[in-house]
Amino acid sequence: MPSPIIRTFSAHYREKYGHGVGKIPVDMGQPCPNRVHGGCIFCRPASFTPSYLNNTEDLAKQVSAGKDNLLRGRFKKYFAYFQQETCTAVAVEQLLPALELLLADADCIGLILSTRPDYVSEQLLKRLAELVKWTGKECLFELGLQTIHERSLQWLNRHHSFADFQDAVWRIKSVGCFEVGAHLIFGIPEETEADMLDSLRTVCELGVNALKLHHLQVIRDTPLQKLYRQGDVALFSLDAYIDFLLKALPVIPAEVTMHRLWATAHPGLLVAPRWNILTSHLSETLRQKMAAAGLHQGQAVKG
Ligand code: SF4
Repeated sequence: MPSPIIRTFSAHYREKYGHGVGKIPVDMGQPCPNRVHGGCIFCRPASFTPSYLNNTEDLAKQVSAGKDNLLRGRFKKYFAYFQQETCTAVAVEQLLPALELLLADADCIGLILSTRPDYVSEQLLKRLAELVKWTGKECLFELGLQTIHERSLQWLNRHHSFADFQDAVWRIKSVGCFEVGAHLIFGIPEETEADMLDSLRTVCELGVNALKLHHLQVIRDTPLQKLYRQGDVALFSLDAYIDFLLKALPVIPAEVTMHRLWATAHPGLLVAPRWNILTSHLSETLRQKMAAAGLHQGQAVKG
């Protein structure tokens, strides 16, 4: 089978399993530890929380609501997706039984744990590896990094370093039964195109299996909105971001799964940029431009 122009999440898992696979967000209901420091300046979980998701309900009810509201019969198989907050900050004794319960559903093919690089304990890796090996299911750690540049990490109020990310990637990969992914944000003030591509190349060289790419978005009632109102933040236009992706995708190895190529948010909470374009149209525009330019993911990767 020829490599796709872009190895999207849907293309990758359709190729792997022969059918589509969805994601069902679930939430342990515990706040991210970075909130005691004010949280990352762009973050407001409500901007990406599905309207049906109620984190006071037990996980079985959350999954059932996800099947009704998200999968809607399009997909039977799914990943349980801990997208909200920092799930691995939950005590291992509380988290492990929850993960075991989710993996017991035959339709759940695995876990996606979105978390911070400084909240991946050895105890969790050891206990979770036993569970993953025993069930034979998948487990992807999605590490929020956003940028490799320390000045930008401080500006975003991340409260971790790039070294924390490197250390987490090495430790997760050394276990042998996990995949690891990274979140990156493009358009952080004072980062040049070279800085952004440097972040991308560096995380790829560390051997990540998956990427979530976002353009910087301003969400209502965040510290970033205040800076934006003061005129301190310039955002990507739609055309400029597509042009950037045309340079970024070729440097990403062809085997890396692209879970996301741009940020999305509830329209009522999104301040800027408001591109007013359907994601399906954006996707198609990008593909057409890649095809017209003879580009594909991985094209510029040496070796
Ligand atoms: S670490 Fe993640 S969940 Fe926590 S404040 Fe930052 S972006 Fe939000």
